[in-house]
Amino acid sequence: MQQKPTAIVIGAGIGGIATAARLAKNGYCVTVLEKNQTPGGRCNQIVQDGHRFDIGPTLFLMPEVWEETFASLGEKLSDYLDLRRIDPTYKVHFDDGLQLELTSNIGDMQIQLEAIEITAFTGFLNYIAEGAKHYKISLEKFVGRNFFSLFDYFSLKNLPLIFKLKALGKHYRNTGRFFKDERLKAAFTFQNMYLGLSPYDAPATYSLLQYTELAEGVWYPLGGMYAGIQALVKVAEKLGVKFIYNMPVKEILAKRNQVTGVVTEDNRVFTAGIFVGNADLPYIYKELLPDPVAAKKLDEKLYTCSTIMFYWGVDKQYPQISHHNVFLAGDYKASFDQIFQDHNLPDEPSFYVHAPARTDPAAAPADQDTLYVLVPVGHLDMASEQDWDERVSRARQTVFERLSKEMGITDLESHIKFEIVYQPKVWKERFNLERGAAFGLSHNFWQVGYLRPQNRHKKYKNLYFAGASTHPGTGLPIVLLSAKLTAERILLGKGTISVQNMVNAVAAATD
Ligand SMILES: Cc1cc2nc3c(=O)[nH]c(=O)nc-3n(C[C@H](O)[C@H](O)[C@H](O)COP(=O)(O)OP(=O)(O)OC[C@H]3O[C@@H](n4cnc5c(N)ncnc54)[C@H](O)[C@@H]3O)c2cc1C
Repeated sequence: MQQKPTAIVIGAGIGGIATAARLAKNGYCVTVLEKNQTPGGRCNQIVQDGHRFDIGPTLFLMPEVWEETFASLGEKLSDYLDLRRIDPTYKVHFDDGLQLELTSNIGDMQIQLEAIEITAFTGFLNYIAEGAKHYKISLEKFVGRNFFSLFDYFSLKNLPLIFKLKALGKHYRNTGRFFKDERLKAAFTFQNMYLGLSPYDAPATYSLLQYTELAEGVWYPLGGMYAGIQALVKVAEKLGVKFIYNMPVKEILAKRNQVTGVVTEDNRVFTAGIFVGNADLPYIYKELLPDPVAAKKLDEKLYTCSTIMFYWGVDKQYPQISHHNVFLAGDYKASFDQIFQDHNLPDEPSFYVHAPARTDPAAAPADQDTLYVLVPVGHLDMASEQDWDERVSRARQTVFERLSKEMGITDLESHIKFEIVYQPKVWKERFNLERGAAFGLSHNFWQVGYLRPQNRHKKYKNLYFAGASTHPGTGLPIVLLSAKLTAERILLGKGTISVQNMVNAVAAATD
C-alpha cells in the first residue's frame, strides 16, 4: 500500500491550522507542533471569573474568505459559526468632543458627514468607490495568488495595476482628495493600524480597508473570535490532523537543499517530507534555521507597531461604551511619528476599546463588563531605552482620562476586579513575535507581493511558510489566504492538487 505523504507544521496559529487542514484534506498525514498549551496564536482568548476576552483580533472581516476555507475542507462555515454583523461598526471619538458613528446606513452617514463638512458625503461616496476598486484588484491580482518571480510580479499586465492601486501614493495624503477636515481624514485612515502601519507611510491602496468594513461588513462570531479557531481545529482534527501542544520547536535540521527534521525543546526529533513554518517568519530565520545571512537581511526590514493591551474584568456595565470604540489622538500625525520613528508610546496616544458583551452577553457575567483596550505603541528597540512599566502606566492613565472626559465614566478604576496586561515583551515571549511587532513584518510597498518573504524557502525546497509575515500579509482572512496559497504550492509540487485548482493556479501565475 502506498504511504501517505507527511507534513510537520510549526505553530498552531490560524495560518498553521488552515494549512494543516488543507494538506490533510488532500491526503497528507499532518502533525502540528505548537509551543503553547492551546491553538490560535495571536487569535487566542483569556477566560477568567466569567469574563471572556479575545486576546488579539476582534474584527471578523471578509467572511467570504472564511467561507471559502471551510468549503475547501468540505464544510459549511454557518454550521460552525453564528456570525453577527456589527453596525455601526465603530464609534469614533475625537479629542475635541466630536463623535462619528461609521455605519453602512448611507442616510446616517450623510447626516453626520455633512454636519462636519458640506462636501464630505460626496467625498465619502467617491472614497468608498475607490476603496471598492482597490479591494477587487488587490484581491484578484495581488493578494489571492502566488508570485513565482520578480518578472511575474512586475509583469507588463501588473505594472499598470500597481499605479491604479496607488501603491506608491500615501494613504493619508490621498484621503485629502476626498475630505478637507483633518478629523475626517483621520476617521478614514486610522484603520491602517490593523496592519500595524502609519497612514502617513501606508500605500493609498489601503482605502480598501474602509470599503471592506462598510460594504462587506464587520462581523463577530458568538463565542468570540476564538470560536473561529475552535471551529477550524475541529475541522482539521476531523480530517486527521494531529496537534501536539506544549511542544516548542528549537531547531530546524537541514542537509543540502532539504529540511530533514525539527528538534523540539525536549530533544525529540520529528521528521516528514514537507515542513511548514507558521511561527513568525523572521523568528524562524533567526532562531530555528541555520541561515544567518537571510536572518540579517530580515533585520533590515521594517516591522509593524506593537500594542499595550489591558484586559479588564469589570463589576459594572457601562452601556455608553459600544462594541467597537476608537479614540483618536488630538495630534494625529505626532502620534504615528512617535510610534513608528521613535518606537515610543505617543504623548497623546490613540486607542481602541472592545466591549464584546454588547453583542454577546455570554462574554461577561450578568450586569458586569468585559473590556479590552488596545493602545498602539512602538515595537521593541534594542537601540533605545524603553521603560515599559512607565509606558503601561501612562497608557492606562490616558484611557481613564478620556473615558472620563468624553463619556462621563469617572469610576471605572474602582470597578476593575482584575487586570491582565500585554505589552511588546509579552507578545515576543508568548508567541515569538520578532521585536514584539504585533502584526509581523510591515506592509509598505517594498514588503508586499513578491517583495515580501515568499512562502517557500529559496534553498530548502521542502520548507514552506504560512502566516502574517509571509505573502500576502497580516489579518485573519489574509492569513487564511496565505494558508491557501502555501497549501496550493505544496500540492502542485506533489501533484496531489485537483485538476481544477491546478488550472486556476497556473492561470493566475501566468496571468
Ligand atoms: C492586538 C491584535 C489585534 C488584531 N486585530 C485583528 C482584527 O481585529 N482582525 C484581524 O483579522 N486580524 C487582527 N490581528 C491580526 C491577526 O491576529 C494575525 O494576523 C493572525 O492571527 C496571525 O496568525 P498567524 O497564524 O500568522 O500567526 P500566530 O497567531 O502568531 O501563530 C503562530 C503560532 O506559532 C507558535 N510558535 C511560535 N514559535 C514556535 C515554536 N518555536 N515552536 C512551535 N510553535 C511556535 C505560536 O505560539 C503561535 O501559536 C490582530 C493582531 C493583534 C496582535
